[in-house]
Amino acid sequence: MALAIENVGREMHEFMRELYPFCRSISGDGLRATLHHIQKRIPLIMHEVPTGTQVFDWTIPKEWNIRDAYIKDSHGNRVVDFQQSNLHVVSYSLPIHRKMTLDELKPHLFSLPDRPDWIPYRTAYYRESWGFCLSHKQLLGLQEGEYEVCIDSSLEPGHLSYGECYLKGAREEEIIISCHVCHPSLCNDNLSGVVLGTRLAEALVNRPHQYSYRFLFLPVTIGAIAWLCLNEPQTAKVRHGVVLTCVGDSGKPTYKKSRTGCAEVDRAAIHVLRHSGGDFAVQDFSPYGYDERQYCSPGFNLPVGCFMRTPNGCFPEYHTSGDNLSFVRPESFTDSYVKVGQILEVLDLNETYVSQNQKCEPQLGKKGLYSAPGSDDNLALLWVLNLSDGDHSLLDIAERSGMFFQRIRKAADDLAGAGIIRRLNR
Ligand code: ZN
Repeated sequence: MALAIENVGREMHEFMRELYPFCRSISGDGLRATLHHIQKRIPLIMHEVPTGTQVFDWTIPKEWNIRDAYIKDSHGNRVVDFQQSNLHVVSYSLPIHRKMTLDELKPHLFSLPDRPDWIPYRTAYYRESWGFCLSHKQLLGLQEGEYEVCIDSSLEPGHLSYGECYLKGAREEEIIISCHVCHPSLCNDNLSGVVLGTRLAEALVNRPHQYSYRFLFLPVTIGAIAWLCLNEPQTAKVRHGVVLTCVGDSGKPTYKKSRTGCAEVDRAAIHVLRHSGGDFAVQDFSPYGYDERQYCSPGFNLPVGCFMRTPNGCFPEYHTSGDNLSFVRPESFTDSYVKVGQILEVLDLNETYVSQNQKCEPQLGKKGLYSAPGSDDNLALLWVLNLSDGDHSLLDIAERSGMFFQRIRKAADDLAGAGIIRRLNR
């Protein structure tokens, strides 16, 4: 699964630009339009879960759609305009169209006094209300007087949509890659994860791989809960998983471990980051963040970690209009793509071998495998031979030897090719 990286970050950024304008939410046509665009690139199946469906302790909410929204001053000027930014409307706002004074309007207005140029992102999920978000500068510019307030939205029985891309591998067991796809015009959280998930799936479509892959594009929380509830038997096949979010900012890569903290995906991710030569961070699991919360709930306890750069809430642009197209960098996209690709590659190629010469080393020179004494390649061969006792995987050997997985894997391929070690069936 060698991943071509030329232009990858730039292409991902272009795809993000394509998705940026849609007014996504946890349901509705903006979410569907986004899934349709993903569908143009990968074999994505769209699922629609009807309003009212019970999924564990939750109920699929009514579907929200919006066409327009504005606040007009007494001269008829749109002083807040949904057409300028879809962040201006609190997501899931009820429809409203009436005139009111500034004092009546103010409890429904949200701004960021500390960041006076940015529009905040707010939602009214699971509580029926309405509101507008605007920059603090805009708020301070509103004069006393009467305003016409309009939110042309609907909140009605409908569906919750999510997308699923299944790529069959040599094995039935699965790796799940999950990202949330419900934020409107916000880039790092969450379009970057959507774009990286799509790009990784594109790369895997035509490549042979051992595991089967399931890419999930879900509205946060309710989408993951719905998927887990409706696919519970399927989860027995999940061997590894990664949630992707906030993967495009210029911060260092961060890996958040799964609930057990010692899953193979945790070890693979830390191994790749350690050998990357760059700065990185590792976080222990906590029941806060993204959909790893659901995958790692005790009744499932799936081995699912989370790959990010700067974690949610740790960059000032988080959940504001500052999280825009220029905040996400093509070079960070490339780096995230390479690193997650390597983590998946480690998982996919991590096998266990048994040396056919358990008593003393075989004579490698005789088989043309021994090069300059003391070279890393020779050392890798010796590590693989010594630890190929049926109990150590290649990742175990890589960790113990301090060598990068790829070098150990190559040594194993050479030894297996010469008939010196034999792969154990998984
Ligand atoms: Zn968010």
